Amino acid sequence: MIDLYTLSSEALQTLLASWGEPAYRAKQIWEWLYEKRAGSFDAMHNLPKALRERLAAETRLGALELVAEQESHDGTIKRLYRLHDNQMIESVLMEYDDARRTACISTQAGCAMGCVFCATGQMGFARHLTAYEIFEQSMRFACELEARGERLSNVVLMGMGEPFHNYDAALEAIHLLMERLGIGARHITVSTVGLVPQIRRFAEEGLQVKLAISLHAATDEERAALLPVNKRYPLQDLIAACRDYADKTGRRVTFEWAAISGENDTPEQARALGQLLHGLKCHVNIIPLNPTGGYAGGPSSMRRVNAFIEALAQYGIPATVRVRRGIDIDAGCGQLKSKVLSGKHAATERAGDQ
Ligand code: SAH
Ligand code: SF4
Repeated sequence: MIDLYTLSSEALQTLLASWGEPAYRAKQIWEWLYEKRAGSFDAMHNLPKALRERLAAETRLGALELVAEQESHDGTIKRLYRLHDNQMIESVLMEYDDARRTACISTQAGCAMGCVFCATGQMGFARHLTAYEIFEQSMRFACELEARGERLSNVVLMGMGEPFHNYDAALEAIHLLMERLGIGARHITVSTVGLVPQIRRFAEEGLQVKLAISLHAATDEERAALLPVNKRYPLQDLIAACRDYADKTGRRVTFEWAAISGENDTPEQARALGQLLHGLKCHVNIIPLNPTGGYAGGPSSMRRVNAFIEALAQYGIPATVRVRRGIDIDAGCGQLKSKVLSGKHAATERAGDQ
């Protein structure tokens, strides 16, 4: 069965022509898919019934099967999808008080980078996602938002997996988001553990996509203990690539900092970070660690986080604490999958019902 999302507009025209349909039908279907964001063939009511039936019989919209969903008190929705080969991935939709609606999507099933505090890293790597598997996670949310008169406004490639380890598919997915869903590059964020060659390559793509770097420590020794990738790409090389990215794109780089009690929330780390980022157009995003089964560390207290932010301010580096959205629904990367696999989860639940 043909997945319509995987067809270019030319391929859709070719398919419809092979069915003997007039040329304008392909255009109508394209509009239903990406402008009106119909999630089903039934909704495409200016198509003849026979055509809708043929579409339903011979094609489908997407390949992701919803396995579990949780809704948080703050409106954050977290989903677990099964892929055609039984791999599982997560995506999250975050709603803010303004019109912002942000999808957080996965780029791989599992992850090969092995960051010690990360639930996905603890699972290991299963496989890369295709560009369409990445894109469809946003497409699903876009259709559902459209049905209630809202628009998907932002996408962050910050779910399971390392986007730059799956560079070509991630880049193609970004193009699909821009071309089909009209999401501007400035509203798309790629988060990377710090693969230096790919950061440099990405700077050459000529896109104004926002870059977020999972930094988490400001000395090589500390960072390598948390993120094994630091042994291959030490801080000096990483920060040099980030400076180039900021220069080439004119965009401020975000540094992610999972604040771990007694580990990376110390005055020494704040000082080292202040010196490391000196003069770089950036912002530090602090997220108190989300505890996971495979790692003993715990989140920093707000008192420690605030002291850390003040110390950074002395170096002129802006830092904020990210509101932990969906914390009551395991919205940390990889956590819903871990829970479902361990059988501790009812298929669909609201956080308040537990
Ligand atoms: N692989 C990419 C993107 C996915 S991870 C990356 O590492 O950047 C998305 C973000 O969640 C990263 O900043 C990651 O370091 C962070 N993260 C992972 N596990 C976490 C945890 N247990 N608590 C807080 N942040 C975590
Ligand atoms: Fe992979 Fe990112 Fe998790 Fe590290 S933090 S293991 S790179 S998903």
